[in-house]
Amino acid sequence: MKAALILISFALLSACQPPTDEPVRGQAYLLGTALNIAIHDAGHDREILDTVFERVAVIEARMSTTEADYETTELLEVNRAAGERRVAVSPDTFEVLAAAREFSRLSNGAFDVTIWPLVRLWGIGSENAGVPGADRLEQTVALVDWQAMELGPGTSVFLPREGMGVDVGAIAKGYAADEAAAILREAGVAHALLDFGGNILVIGDKPDGTPWRIGVQRPDAERNQYLGIAEITDRTIVTSGTYERYFVEGGVRYHHILDAETGFPAENDLQQVTIIADSSMHADALSTATFVLGLEAGRELVESLPSVEAVFVTNGNRVHLSSGAAELFTLTDPDYTLVVQAN
Ligand code: AMP
Ligand code: MG
Repeated sequence: MKAALILISFALLSACQPPTDEPVRGQAYLLGTALNIAIHDAGHDREILDTVFERVAVIEARMSTTEADYETTELLEVNRAAGERRVAVSPDTFEVLAAAREFSRLSNGAFDVTIWPLVRLWGIGSENAGVPGADRLEQTVALVDWQAMELGPGTSVFLPREGMGVDVGAIAKGYAADEAAAILREAGVAHALLDFGGNILVIGDKPDGTPWRIGVQRPDAERNQYLGIAEITDRTIVTSGTYERYFVEGGVRYHHILDAETGFPAENDLQQVTIIADSSMHADALSTATFVLGLEAGRELVESLPSVEAVFVTNGNRVHLSSGAAELFTLTDPDYTLVVQAN
């Protein structure tokens, strides 16, 4: 059983759509989550949505490392060949691995593309989720090392030690959203909203010429309450938090974003990070990376990148914005306090 929840779109769609111009909507369950697409300009039929979902299904079939879903995929082959041989993968998979390596580097390994052995050991999101023993944990932590992953020649991948493995769960959804948007733009779509399990990408602005208004969810609530609103045009907004996948053991909640140093779920003052960026793949990787890095180092990373903004939520319902986020994000929930950084 997948632990993924049924997700509800947080897009706050304007009530002023002309009733004659109903959006073309489609839904699919892929990448372990619900994908919802709404095309808001006239002249498109459902066929284009089928093309998009087929493309996402191909991405999933190449990059999934969920053994319960797939007998084999390109990445499962890479992982099974660890310590033995290099495996040639598709340009798709290679591109995602190369980007994942870049974010591993940028985040000093807070994001680590070779996290797979740890993800598997914890089993979070699977039926066998549980806290591993100290010895196993220590051995497994030693297998996580993004710098050891060899990319090339060509589109081949090699993991030098048996037991190593790659996992693109923190970045592939973003890649899929970018690819989906590229197909839609190519087909002439000028106004659309893609919701890939809470990762939002918008094409253009709304048909009435105003920006899309996207709710940022509260970290402690089910997915129908938001703490504020981001107004975006032609951008993407991705959140990482602890509520998506977790299990409880001995009264302790263990979530799905792991710290490769300790082997345990990442623990710092952060409850949630939302990234607003141009590329959904970058936003996806950065939301996970900054979640592990914590507020200070996470903010530093975000500030070092052009046209990337962030909304951080720390314990005590405190909201912190990157320098350009105030122009995009409005806090609306009175339970939360905006912390203004002293310069
Ligand atoms: P996200 O929801 O995008 O933050 O991604 C979380 C998923 O990324 C997890 O379910 C794991 O598959 C994977 N993951 C967990 N910890 C890390 C990490 N430190 N670096 C990279 N990927 C991770
Ligand atoms: Mg991510």
